[in-house]
Amino acid sequence: MHIALFGGTFDPVHYGHLRLAEEAREAAALARVLFVPAAVSPFRVGEPITPAQHRLQMLRLATADNPAFEVSELEIERGGVSYTIDTLTTLQQQYPDATLYLILGTDALQDFMSWRRVDAIAQACQLLVGVRPNYDLQATLAQLPDAIRQRVQPVAMTPLGIRARDIRERVRTGRSVRYLTPPNVIEYIQQHRLYQEP
Ligand code: ATP
Repeated sequence: MHIALFGGTFDPVHYGHLRLAEEAREAAALARVLFVPAAVSPFRVGEPITPAQHRLQMLRLATADNPAFEVSELEIERGGVSYTIDTLTTLQQQYPDATLYLILGTDALQDFMSWRRVDAIAQACQLLVGVRPNYDLQATLAQLPDAIRQRVQPVAMTPLGIRARDIRERVRTGRSVRYLTPPNVIEYIQQHRLYQEP
């Protein structure tokens, strides 16, 4: 069975994430994509972040209609700074017979060499990397050591220049976020008055 871990802040989840997950699912014949929101991203320590329960709930709403998509509380329950290698280790124990993948966008691949224990990550799973507008995948690949590059499987996804920070900014300033994220996520944001503060 092919299973992918898709980590991120998901503050909030949007169609860029969902298309990447869906196209990765097709490309690697994934039985399951696990969306795993970080408790705290190592790159955003000290930055404001929406409480985990809201980010989880928006993910549940956004993924509910896709039988291959699942939301995991692994990193939220573990708490503290969320390191992918710790999550992968848990998944290896949970799914000893599975082939594991990690889904990420080109911007995340650019930073990949600064992640904790990259060699161990690349040993544990293949990297499914979706192209993100304004990021040069070929240049990023060229900078990686061979052992890591060999583990990368590019995913030719529909380019979507959607960013969570733009959604937050639009909500805060009262502009429309329609067609950037699913309607039930927008409803949730409005109901809970999220993203009102800068
Ligand atoms: P922010 O704007 O707050 O930085 P984000 O939109 O980049 O957030 P994250 O939760 O940080 O979202 O991203 C999680 C993962 O999804 C990362 O691997 C990132 O590269 C990928 N990703 C996010 N948005 C897109 C997109 N529009 N296209 C392709 N990949 C994306």
